[in-house]
Amino acid sequence: MLIDAHTHILSLAEDAEFTTEYGREGSLCIYRSHGSLPAHRMPTESEWEDSGYGRSGFPVIGPVESLRDHPGFDKIVILAVSPQFLDGELIGTVDSYGITDVPGPPSPEKCNDYIAAVVRTRPEVFIGYASVNPNYRGPKAAVRELERAITELGLHGLKLYPMYQDWSPADPVLAFPIFEKAEELGIPVMVHQAGSTRIDARMEYARPALLDAAGRHFRDLRLTIAHLGLPWVDEALFMLTKHPNFFAELSYYIATVTTEELFRFLIHAQQSFVPLEKLFFGTDYPGFLYDPILLRDKLLAVNEHAERVGAPPIPREKLDGLLGDNYARMFGLLDR
Ligand SMILES: [Zn+2]
Repeated sequence: MLIDAHTHILSLAEDAEFTTEYGREGSLCIYRSHGSLPAHRMPTESEWEDSGYGRSGFPVIGPVESLRDHPGFDKIVILAVSPQFLDGELIGTVDSYGITDVPGPPSPEKCNDYIAAVVRTRPEVFIGYASVNPNYRGPKAAVRELERAITELGLHGLKLYPMYQDWSPADPVLAFPIFEKAEELGIPVMVHQAGSTRIDARMEYARPALLDAAGRHFRDLRLTIAHLGLPWVDEALFMLTKHPNFFAELSYYIATVTTEELFRFLIHAQQSFVPLEKLFFGTDYPGFLYDPILLRDKLLAVNEHAERVGAPPIPREKLDGLLGDNYARMFGLLDR
C-alpha cells in the first residue's frame, strides 16, 4: 500500500492576509537558505513578491487537489488543526472557500466537521484525524469534542499540537484526559513533537521526550511522533526503542535530507534498535517543498546510493513498509 501519513487541507485562517503573513514567517528560513530572500534583514514586500511568495495567496487545496497531487496513493491521512488564538486571530482548519457542505459561517471551531466532510467525498482513500486543543476551552471541552469527532463525525484518529498551543504533552491536567479518551476510543494519536519555524511556537514543549509520560501511563495508546521529532531525531528514535506502541513519520525531515542522508538514516535507525517497521512515509502536503511524488521517489532511490558505495541495499519489502504497509498495520488495515 502507498500511504501519505501526514497531510493537511483547506485554510488555516479565515483572513487571507493573515494566512499569507503566517506562511511567510514559517517559510522565511527556507527562502533565505535558497538565496531568494536576504539573510541579514527582514525582506521588503517587493522582495517577497519577487521570491514567488506573493500576496495572491495559496492555491485552493480541497479534496480534488489532494487526490490530484497524490496519484497512485491508496490512502491519504488528513490532519485537522484545532482552534487557537494567534495575535488575536482565531486560526485552525477552516473552509474559507466554501467547498465543503458544512453549514454556517467559516470558523476554525468546526475544524473536525470540515475534515469529516472532506473524508465523506472519498472515504475509501481519505483517513481523517480530528484535532482538539485543551488550552482553548479547557480539557473537559476538548475531551467532549474528541468524543463527538470520533463517534458522531466518524473520524479515525487524533492530531495534537502542544507546542503551537502552549501546553505540555506531559501535563497531567491538560494532556492526560485527552490521551485517556483516545486510548478508550481505540484511535491512533499523532503529536507534533518536533520544532517549528514559527517564532511564537514554544520549543520548550516540542521535544519528543515529553511524550515519555504518556508512554508510561497509556500503554495501549498508539502514538506517532510527527516529523521524526526534527531536530531531535535521535531522541525520537530512542522513544521508539523505549515504548512498544510508539511510531514516527518522516515528513519535514525527508524534505530536508538528500537521498544519501536518507539511506544513512535508515541504517542508523536500525543500528539504534529501531525496526524500520516503526516508521511511516509522510509529506506534510501541501506545504512548501512537500510534493508527495518527489518525496516518494527520494525514498525509493536510497538503494541507488547503496549501489554507488557498495553497501547492502534496504530490502524492497522494508521500503514498501515505509511507504505504507507499516502505517496500514499500525492502523489495522493489514494483519501483518
Ligand atoms: Zn503538518
